[in-house]
Amino acid sequence: MPQPCIITVAITGSLPQKKDNPAVPITPVEQVESTHEAFEAGATLVHLHVRNDDGSTTSSPDRFAQVCEGIRKHCPGMIVQFSTGGRSGTGRERGLHLALRPDMASLATGSVNFPSRIYENSPELVEWLAAEMRDKGIKPEIEVFDLSMLFGAVRMQKEGLIPGNLHVQFVMGIRNAMPVDRDVFDFYVKTLKRLAPEATWTGAGIGREQMTLARWSLEQGGHCRTGMEDNVRINRETLAASNAALVLEVVRLCDEVGRPVATVGQARQLLGLPPGA
Ligand code: MG
Repeated sequence: MPQPCIITVAITGSLPQKKDNPAVPITPVEQVESTHEAFEAGATLVHLHVRNDDGSTTSSPDRFAQVCEGIRKHCPGMIVQFSTGGRSGTGRERGLHLALRPDMASLATGSVNFPSRIYENSPELVEWLAAEMRDKGIKPEIEVFDLSMLFGAVRMQKEGLIPGNLHVQFVMGIRNAMPVDRDVFDFYVKTLKRLAPEATWTGAGIGREQMTLARWSLEQGGHCRTGMEDNVRINRETLAASNAALVLEVVRLCDEVGRPVATVGQARQLLGLPPGA
């Protein structure tokens, strides 16, 4: 049987605003509701940023706790992954919410240019975040924006900073970072298989090429990420009505490619996580 596909939904992010798409969930109530719809549609992992009520980004552990509690209540077993990205704080502020012990957290293992800023991840901060995750039993998702970050993650695993099998996400489509490029993608996958054959991986296409990268990932045995953090449109003409609508596009692709959509239990097993509550 082909390997089930874990669908990640990145519901909010730090950039899209209501003006980009009125369906972007901002408040905790909206975020929990949107996650629940996406969960019912087939998503088993939620990648989370939180906002203040005015839409600005925050790293407030209280906000994370509030949303996390709602998700755990309404989406039994769903894997909760906190972002440790740079828009919700600086330096170690980016890891304060790890005290809440989510199942997973994102970990970028290097710096990269974004459309209008540097996404700065100093070696000291990367190692501190990794150690926090290790010590709290949180599985990192390695965000790979270029090849050096993959090599960095493998080295950190060898050094004991990242326990267990690696889970890597290839992020493509951000302006000034790596575009959605087939040859580079194939080389990423090949290199990961060479360096860390036991690793699991996801393709995250940012912007209009999201479904292109989802298709490539499905064909190569990887997992998929979708959601309004990365892309607010179903296609050039149509805004996505919800995060669930984007998840359903990936479910349809899974069907086309012949990959079953992972259940919560399968997703947890594939990622080496304990069974959900
Ligand atoms: Mg994010």
